[in-house]
Amino acid sequence: MTEAIALGIPSMREERPVLAPRRPTRRIRVGDLSVGGDAPITVQSMTTTKTHDIGATLQQIAELTASGCDIVRVACPTDKDAEALPIIAKQSRIPVIADIHFKPKYVFQAIEAGCGAVRVNPGNIRKFDDQVAAICKAASDAGVSLRIGVNAGSLDPRLLKKHGKATPEALVESAVWEAGLFEECGFHDFKISVKHHDVVTMVRAYQLLSEMGDWPLHLGVTEAGPAFQGTIKSCAAFGTLLAQGIGDTIRVSLSAPPVEEVKVGTKLLEFMGLRERKLEIVSCPSCGRAQVDVWSLAESVEEGLKSISAPLRVAVMGCVVNGPGEAREADLGCASGNGKGQIFVHGKVVETVPEDQVVETLIKHAEAMAEQMRAELGEDALKGTAPSVLAL
Ligand code: SF4
Repeated sequence: MTEAIALGIPSMREERPVLAPRRPTRRIRVGDLSVGGDAPITVQSMTTTKTHDIGATLQQIAELTASGCDIVRVACPTDKDAEALPIIAKQSRIPVIADIHFKPKYVFQAIEAGCGAVRVNPGNIRKFDDQVAAICKAASDAGVSLRIGVNAGSLDPRLLKKHGKATPEALVESAVWEAGLFEECGFHDFKISVKHHDVVTMVRAYQLLSEMGDWPLHLGVTEAGPAFQGTIKSCAAFGTLLAQGIGDTIRVSLSAPPVEEVKVGTKLLEFMGLRERKLEIVSCPSCGRAQVDVWSLAESVEEGLKSISAPLRVAVMGCVVNGPGEAREADLGCASGNGKGQIFVHGKVVETVPEDQVVETLIKHAEAMAEQMRAELGEDALKGTAPSVLAL
C-alpha cells in the first residue's frame, strides 16, 4: 500500500551558487531582449534554411523558439534573402539577427527590415571601415544593435600578416580596432565575438578582450564540429569563460540540426547555475553492484519525462548503495535491486514496485508534482526558462 506523503514543491527560485560574479558589461538591446549588464545570459542559434524560403525559415525559427532559443540569426547572402528579412523579422517570436558578409548594402536593408540586430564581419566586408559612419547612423536611427563578429577564418589580412596566424592577440586587435571605429562615431550599441575553432585560443582571446573594455561578449567556438566533439569543445570553452564571469550571450555551433545547439546551450547554462533549471536526471554510471540495467532505465525515464516542464531533479540509481542518499537530494528517485524498485519522494520511500513498473511510477509521481506546482505557482511558472519570462 502506498504511504500518503506530501509531495512538496521543488524550489524554483532557490538561490543558486555561481562560480563567479558576471563581469560588468554595458547593456544593449537585441529586439525586445537585453544582452549584457545583468540581463540573463541568452542562447542563440542560426537557421540552416535558405532565408528566402520564408516558410521553411519561419518553421525552423518556431522549432528553435520552442526548444528554448532566445535569439536567432539568419544568413543573408543574396538579394532574395535580404528582401525576405522584413517578413521574417515581423513574424518571428524571438529577435532576428541578420548575418552579413561581403555586401554592406545588406546591412542597411537588415536595419530597415526591423531585425533586432545585425552581425557584421569586418574581415569579410570590403572597405568596411569606410562604411562605419553610415552604418552607425542607420542603426542609431532605427534603434538596432550590431555584433562585430571576428572569425579566425576571415581575419583582416593586415592582421594575419602582422601576427602570422589567427592568434588571440590578432583576433582581439581586429575586434578592438573595429570597436574603436564605431565608438569614434558615438555608437556603443554593439557586442563582440572573437571566434576560433581551437578552445585554448578562443578562451584566451575572450579573456584578453574582456580586460580591454565593457563590451557585451557573444561566446562561440567556430566550426566546433559534429555534435559529440562540438558539444565538448563548446562546453569546455564556455564553461571556462562563464566560470570567470565572462560571456553575455552564447551560441553553440554544431554540424547538427540547430535545435541540438539550443539544447546544449540551455543545459550548459542550467548546469552552471546561470539559468533556472528544468528537468534534470541524476543517474549513476552503473557498476558491478548494479542489479538493473541503469543505462536503459535512465534513458526510459528521460524519455518518459521529456514533456514535464517542471524543474524536477530525478535520481535513477542502480542499487541501494547511493540510492537513498541521492534520492534525498533529488525531488524524485528510484533505487533498484532484486527485481524491484524503491521509489523516493524527497528522500522518503513512498512505494516499492516491480522493476518493470519503475518508469511508469516515476512518471506518475512527476506528473503529480508538476500538477501541484502548477496549482500553487501558476502555469507561467512552468513555462520554460526563456529570459522573456524572467525579471530583467
Ligand atoms: S548506485 Fe550502485 S550500481 Fe550505481 S554506481 Fe553506485 S554502487 Fe554502482
